[in-house]
Amino acid sequence: MLMAAYQNQSWSDSRILPFGKIQLAPTALGLHYGQTVFEGMKAFRRTDGQIAIFRIEKHYERLCRTLERMCMPAMAFGLFSESIQQLVERDADWVPEADRGSLYIRPMVFASEERFGVKVAEEYLFLIFTGPVGSYFSQSLKVKVEDKFIRAAPGGTGYAKCGGNYGGAFYPTQQAKSAGFDQVLWTDGSADLYMEESGMMNVVFVIDGIVTTPPLSDTILDGVTRDSILQLARVMGYTVIERKISAHELVERHQAGQLQEAFGVGTAAVTAPIGLIRVRDTDLPLPDYHAGSFCMKVKEKLTRIRIGKEPDQWGWNTLVNPAQGS
Ligand SMILES: *Cc1c(COP(=O)(O)O)cnc(C)c1O
Repeated sequence: MLMAAYQNQSWSDSRILPFGKIQLAPTALGLHYGQTVFEGMKAFRRTDGQIAIFRIEKHYERLCRTLERMCMPAMAFGLFSESIQQLVERDADWVPEADRGSLYIRPMVFASEERFGVKVAEEYLFLIFTGPVGSYFSQSLKVKVEDKFIRAAPGGTGYAKCGGNYGGAFYPTQQAKSAGFDQVLWTDGSADLYMEESGMMNVVFVIDGIVTTPPLSDTILDGVTRDSILQLARVMGYTVIERKISAHELVERHQAGQLQEAFGVGTAAVTAPIGLIRVRDTDLPLPDYHAGSFCMKVKEKLTRIRIGKEPDQWGWNTLVNPAQGS
């Protein structure tokens, strides 16, 4: 794992050390007051054997917004980017073969300062560790439009990738799971139940052939996968619209036979098809995940760009040079 420390208003150089436990005081501020944030990204083995990290800049920009919202110190792009590249070079042997999976990369920052009392911390740790993950095809999900709990509120931290957003989402998700669902479809909590995200993924619908997704706001996380998929949809010839979608509209579109696809999008699964949406007492079953679906085609295209089978027109891939004899 890689570690850097923030003290006396600056970040130390990072160093790589064996993955292991770290010592923290019980008074470490992050444990109490929630200044803990993270990123989740991936490195891929290309068909030519080289390794590429996906969209470092976009993850960095999001980390910056998250750090700012949580009153945590900014970090230079060089520290973030070079640390990740260094660690991935070191861990090159752990990157699975092209098409067989990827190396998940988890950068995190949290308040480590020992202090009895509430305050913005002045000391932080930046850690990165990695682990190989298989490529998986998510089963079709059964999701419930959540009409009691919300994940985020206007003015809150919904757009930040901070630990507390996850902590607060577990209970409603567990309730949905015990009622037989896989995930919740979060809404804005208004009477119209406007769609926001699905679990910890962004959500995309195909409505009457149009790729439709809720617009970014302070209650929706700016997913790197969401952004990539919308760009790909446009070059694939789809019309893409970012607009509000109410629960009522989902029901109407479904009745009219226009709700063709719904799926979650995120780094972990890329796309996770939704097979059923429950809106209050109404079930909206969706057609099975099939090869001709937008959800499948866009996932395939994204994978091909990541592993170097298709040109990378936006410069999403950062190639790393594996350390000799690592
Ligand atoms: C991380 C995350 C996502 C997905 O973002 P990606 O960058 O695509 O992995 C979506 N929603 C929430 C709440 C998240 O934390």
